[in-house]
Amino acid sequence: MDTVELSDRAVCPACTQLGAGGYVSFESDLRLAFACPSCRKLVWIDGA
Ligand SMILES: [Zn+2]
Repeated sequence: MDTVELSDRAVCPACTQLGAGGYVSFESDLRLAFACPSCRKLVWIDGA
């Protein structure tokens, strides 16, 4: 099951903005993404 973990102190790997966001983990392919309110898209996190 894919999971979303909300955080109010997260740093986006793309725009490096500190703020609220959500980490989304996709169990099907073990990838992790960050839902950034500044980029307004999912940013894939490498090396997870
Ligand atoms: Zn961002």
